[in-house]
Amino acid sequence: MSETFTPSAETTARRSERASLDREAAYAVLDEGLVAHVGFVLDGSPFVIPMAYGRDGDRLLLHASVAARLTRALSDGAPVCVTVTLLDGLVLARSQFHHSMNYRSVVIVGKAERISDRDEAAEALVRLVDHIVPGRSAETRPGNRVELRQTAVIAVPLETASLKVRSGPPLDDEEDVASGGWAGVIPLTLTAGEPIDSPDADGSPPPPSVTRYGRRDRP
Ligand SMILES: Cc1cc2nc3c(=O)[nH]c(=O)nc-3n(C[C@H](O)[C@H](O)[C@H](O)COP(=O)(O)OP(=O)(O)OC[C@H]3O[C@@H](n4cnc5c(N)ncnc54)[C@H](O)[C@@H]3O)c2cc1C
Repeated sequence: MSETFTPSAETTARRSERASLDREAAYAVLDEGLVAHVGFVLDGSPFVIPMAYGRDGDRLLLHASVAARLTRALSDGAPVCVTVTLLDGLVLARSQFHHSMNYRSVVIVGKAERISDRDEAAEALVRLVDHIVPGRSAETRPGNRVELRQTAVIAVPLETASLKVRSGPPLDDEEDVASGGWAGVIPLTLTAGEPIDSPDADGSPPPPSVTRYGRRDRP
């Protein structure tokens, strides 16, 4: 597989100094992210729906109820645009115009593919669980036949995609810098809190995937 995504008109960014087609860097963002915003058109109306996801090599994995509207929209090779965003900071300039955000984001454009093979779909669901909490699948019951029948698993090829990154301080105009005043960045990170036992827990201690979970440890 190529080190870069396939160039296309759809994924060529105009502010190219912030954008790239670097596959490995984009995969690092996908592996750190938790929420994908999935855009599609259904019955002529555009929708963007937040979803959990996973990654299996060069494809992004999504899942939904077979009865969901989303499944109807994504099952038949429909065009889809998926975005994953990591927010790294609030960029506060002296001028309102130059306020911004630091981020790493990936935009994927492609066609959804429903995974119809049952074993492959089951494996994809395991990857989804392990994406959310690494190692969690080994501690839990896999989906049974009924659950798998109720679940549609959808893959989006990671072939036409782009990465965009903004980092660093605000870029104020010289006259605003000269006029003085504070400017800078408020860094933002997503952190995990202390695990909370379920009310029906039997007193078992949290398993390793939970005790070692930390957003900062993620790849
Ligand atoms: C948290 C966050 C907040 C933002 N806030 C704003 C805002 O308020 N106003 C604003 O104008 N822009 C904002 N941006 C930047 C925005 O995502 C776009 O990059 C920008 O608006 C240019 O869009 P475009 O479609 O004109 O870009 P183009 O350069 O024409 O886009 C062409 C292609 O470049 C790629 N591309 C564009 N943007 C991104 C991206 N962010 N990540 C990965 N690939 C990308 C896609 O493949 C896209 O199809 C924000 C980005 C993030 C992540």
